[in-house]
Amino acid sequence: MGLKYSSKINKIRTFALSLIFIGFLVMYVGVFFRTSMLVMTIFMILGLLFIIASTVVYFWIGMLSTRTVQVVCPSCNKVTKMLGRVDMCMYCNEPLTLDPELEGKEFDEKYNRKSKKSKS
Ligand SMILES: [Zn+2]
Repeated sequence: MGLKYSSKINKIRTFALSLIFIGFLVMYVGVFFRTSMLVMTIFMILGLLFIIASTVVYFWIGMLSTRTVQVVCPSCNKVTKMLGRVDMCMYCNEPLTLDPELEGKEFDEKYNRKSKKSKS
């Protein structure tokens, strides 16, 4: 499968969720080393760190959500949130843009980068 874009917030949410799973997985692996208290403790702490990291990411999503713009998707007529100049509809993955200049252009996440690199 080629590159599939999805809404940024959804992407971050997926990332946070996978961090939780990794955390539990690491903790679970630690149980196999229960003969060694030290190794098990290390795994437990590591797993805990992943879960803390995911909490931080969830917190970050909350922060980002305050900066999103609510728009009505022209394709599915649902209210979706977008982040940055271009993003995708959370429901139907319709590319959306706030910048009229980019309207009709092919969706490209690089429009979000404020890359005004002046070659010197
Ligand atoms: Zn939509």
